Amino acid sequence: MDVYKGTGAFSGIAIGKILYYHKSEYQMRQYEITDVKTELNIFRQARTRVMEQLEDLYEKNCIIQGTQAEIFLRQNLLEGKSFQRAIESVIQSEKVNSAYAVMTTRDEMLKTFRTLEEPAIKERLDNMREISDRLIGELGGISPRIDLGDEPVIVVTESITPTELMEMDKDKLMAIVTHHGSDMSHAAIMAKTMNIPALLEIDTDSEWDGRQAIVDGYTGTLYIDPDEETMKVMTEKREEDRRQKTLLEELKGKENVTLSGQKINVYANIGNLSDVGAVLKNDAGGIGLFRSEFLYLENSDFPTEEQQFAVYKQVAENMAGKKVIIRTLDIGADKQVDYFGLDKEENPALGYRAIRICLTRKEIFKTQLRALYRAAMFGNISIMFPMIISVAEVHEIKAIIAEVKEELKNEGIPFKDDVELGVMIETPASVMISRELAKEVDFFSVGTNDLTQYTMAVDRGNSKVAYLYSVYNPAVIRSIKRIISAAANENIIAGMCGEAAADPLLTPLLISFGLKEFSVNASSILRTRAQIAKWTKAEADKVADEVMKCATQEEVYEILKRYQR
Ligand code: PEP
Ligand code: MG
Repeated sequence: MDVYKGTGAFSGIAIGKILYYHKSEYQMRQYEITDVKTELNIFRQARTRVMEQLEDLYEKNCIIQGTQAEIFLRQNLLEGKSFQRAIESVIQSEKVNSAYAVMTTRDEMLKTFRTLEEPAIKERLDNMREISDRLIGELGGISPRIDLGDEPVIVVTESITPTELMEMDKDKLMAIVTHHGSDMSHAAIMAKTMNIPALLEIDTDSEWDGRQAIVDGYTGTLYIDPDEETMKVMTEKREEDRRQKTLLEELKGKENVTLSGQKINVYANIGNLSDVGAVLKNDAGGIGLFRSEFLYLENSDFPTEEQQFAVYKQVAENMAGKKVIIRTLDIGADKQVDYFGLDKEENPALGYRAIRICLTRKEIFKTQLRALYRAAMFGNISIMFPMIISVAEVHEIKAIIAEVKEELKNEGIPFKDDVELGVMIETPASVMISRELAKEVDFFSVGTNDLTQYTMAVDRGNSKVAYLYSVYNPAVIRSIKRIISAAANENIIAGMCGEAAADPLLTPLLISFGLKEFSVNASSILRTRAQIAKWTKAEADKVADEVMKCATQEEVYEILKRYQR
């Protein structure tokens, strides 16, 4: 048995034979043409047919209209345009047949950019290669269909495009294993949408073709020629996985209510636009946290107002009226970006980060606020501010917002005036002044990841002190209760977007405290809905009563474990 470790882009277990997928290669004949105009026409007609095919394919395959479909199609079309000009120039200058011109242009571009490791460029090249293969197919009568054979297989390949994935028969595709690609790539998103396990960064080998394998998307492991014991263990794991998924599927379309009928919102946390597909597929009621700093982390320079506007608008539109809470830039500490030119700090988590950067580098903050207020015209956007420690900060934020609105008005740029504003409660200071903060904003969201770190004085990323990092500590639990009560006093919503919202042990406690919104990762949405449905308010109160008497995190854990459902 050979074992390979990669990155699991989507969880799940697949057991079956490997099919090594080689990209199709075409032998193209070159000949001289006499009528350039006619050849250009032949090429343009083929291009139109390819675009129609793509459009058709994306419409048929995409479960969520207007998300992946539009993104992929646009990219393909975009790529097609510049590529088209290059091909036409080869036809005109070298007087060669169009299929040959496509092939040489494609090869030339691939050669030029081959060494670049930038994921965005790789993806563009994949799109360009895919379009050219289709064009060659059209012009030379070769169809780029991908035949997976009769039996379901695990497809192993160097890299894959979303369209190649779509060309494959879904009933025959059990899992996908690639060498290149990131879990943010469109192909990985497609794999998630198609609900098949995906492994990336495996050093794939065409020699594996036909061999028995297991893909474990949970641990990112590929087993080739598994031994009997591994086979037994993994078969059981697959069965358990299937049972869980079937159970959760039944919850789709159902309301989020406790056993005693209280309505609770289950929202999703996202890092970028491409996560929205999974959010909708898992039936989330909205987005409780859009970590906008990912936009900055992915870029090599400050994202412009237009770039940000396009992303926020698209997310709001794709969510079609459902709430989208976008958190302003939370950079610094463990999220560093070179182009910000931040100094090295002794205690970065306690230093220059998040709202502190925004309030001192106003130009960065204002660019984001302008994009947000403009995008709010296109959906149900709320804005949330991270790392708040004082009412003064909220006043400063409001003053900057007033400036931004004034500027937009003077420039005649449309924006939404009454956007809801909220703050993350994730510092002990904000807990202690939560009553005062609640008078200033429209909603709270409890950031338990940082709240635990700051309350316990334990670096959330330091494994040496990880045993002290516990949301079950009475100090954290009492803080959460206090925050939710402060919100209720002022009649504003209290949500939670830290990881604790997805912890099933905490569900009764959070219900009892009166939490109105749980925001969790897309894959935890249905599980959280299931947990919420298991508790009546009275039963949850009983658990909370016991927990509130505890002095240690061990006691809290023990009680929560005892009542776990
Ligand atoms: C949190 O701190 O709980 C939170 C949701 O934000 P982040 O994990 O991005 O710091
Ligand atoms: Mg935080």
